[in-house]
Amino acid sequence: KINLYLVPTPIGNLKDITLRALDVLKSVDVILAEDTRTSGILLKHLEISKPLQSYHIFNEHKAVEKLIERMKKGEVFALVSDAGTPAISDPGFLLVREVLSAEMEVQCLPGPTAFVPALVNSGLPNDRFVFEGFLPHKKGRKTRLDSLTEESRTMIFYESPHRLLKTLEQLAEVFGPDRQASVSRELTKLHEENVRGTLAQLQVYYQENPLKGEIVLVVAGKPEQKESREEKMEKKRASWNKS
Ligand code: SAM
Repeated sequence: KINLYLVPTPIGNLKDITLRALDVLKSVDVILAEDTRTSGILLKHLEISKPLQSYHIFNEHKAVEKLIERMKKGEVFALVSDAGTPAISDPGFLLVREVLSAEMEVQCLPGPTAFVPALVNSGLPNDRFVFEGFLPHKKGRKTRLDSLTEESRTMIFYESPHRLLKTLEQLAEVFGPDRQASVSRELTKLHEENVRGTLAQLQVYYQENPLKGEIVLVVAGKPEQKESREEKMEKKRASWNKS
């Protein structure tokens, strides 16, 4: 028996709700929502009427204990966030962890999330990638960026539009202006746009075209150093000398 479902909701296009999401939302006792107003509008559109309870980071610690008690008594919950997959740069992790440690069951449905289409649309290697979520706004920002200088996997960042230019500038400082990147704006919406180029080119583009709407920033990893012929020869010579 599942005690807690995490149900992804559309990141723009309402048609992205899945048939299973509808089934689960209709079947649970209570829907926990990051913002009951936002989710109320969505549920009304989906013609689902269920008790809604607020669950956000400001009451997360307090709320978890009470919710666990109610689950133990048999109530089944669904957690939704304002958009996308709950617990991905949204509240949820704490609840999942506590439900599991109380030896109850959690199930996250697959569904909309912004970083997957952004990564694939970027055209950058996606066999290995790191999801960095939001960079710290002030304290720790530089340290976080510096920790990524040697990262060879494609990196994904969530960023607010008013910080994009500054972030592109900082990324160019850390990774160099020629590093390839991609900005995905308004995914699944009418004005969806994916802009690809070097960090320097993207800076110019967004200086000329001020950004509106939500964005995901994808940045290529550090190119794997290919050994030059000279370096290979040098290594060979060194090993001959040893033997
Ligand atoms: N839980 C969500 C998910 O699964 O993607 C993420 C929630 S986080 C609070 C919101 C951030 O996700 C935005 O600042 C933006 O970076 C990204 N995002 C959400 N919807 C988006 C969209 N339609 N287009 C581009 N980015 C989006």
